[in-house]
Amino acid sequence: MSETVAAQLDVLKVEALACTACRLSEGRTHVVFGDGSPDADVIIVGEAPGRREDEQGVPFVGPSGKLLDRLLGEIGLERTDVYIANVVKCRPPGNRDPRPDEIEACKGYLREQLRLIDPKVVVTLGNFSSKLLLKTETGITRLRGTAYEWWGRHLVPTFHPAAALRGSAQVLEDMRYDFGLIRDAIDGNLASQDDPEPATTPVSDPDPEQLGLFGR
Ligand code: SF4
Repeated sequence: MSETVAAQLDVLKVEALACTACRLSEGRTHVVFGDGSPDADVIIVGEAPGRREDEQGVPFVGPSGKLLDRLLGEIGLERTDVYIANVVKCRPPGNRDPRPDEIEACKGYLREQLRLIDPKVVVTLGNFSSKLLLKTETGITRLRGTAYEWWGRHLVPTFHPAAALRGSAQVLEDMRYDFGLIRDAIDGNLASQDDPEPATTPVSDPDPEQLGLFGR
């Protein structure tokens, strides 16, 4: 099974490495497709590659990646146990937010990564990916602290590690709480949770097999 998934992910990666579907292809050094286990119970979704990621072609390297590894370690996971990807695979210039047309052009890659790996838990890091996948305008400070039901699995929004690195000790403590929810979701120890306010379950594509991310 995982060999098939790994092979399909490889095919998708080859496609992404040659992708010129949006303007972000013009300034990239590397496409940062994703990294981790095709068997992962957990997919972690960031926003977009930064400078170091663009240089190395790997998501979450540098200080943010180290903190992420530490938080994973505290719940008994290593980076090789999870799969990490971003909403867009190429670095926006100057680390600006990805634009709607860039997300639209790139969303198929993330959708396929989620469909193929079929994780128990999706973790969104920071405002951008959390609001996008949960289809809400509610900010991460209010969203976090809860595991939401999402396409037959759990979605746990939390702060981006960069926020903990430049923020207060409370941000890190809040992330620790959220990572505890990830552990509980993996272990099947979560009670059913409510949808966030306003209601954000993606309803525009009723077929869970298609994981109607950002659906129209
Ligand atoms: S960001 Fe996505 S859609 Fe745009 S060029 Fe890179 S891989 Fe293609």
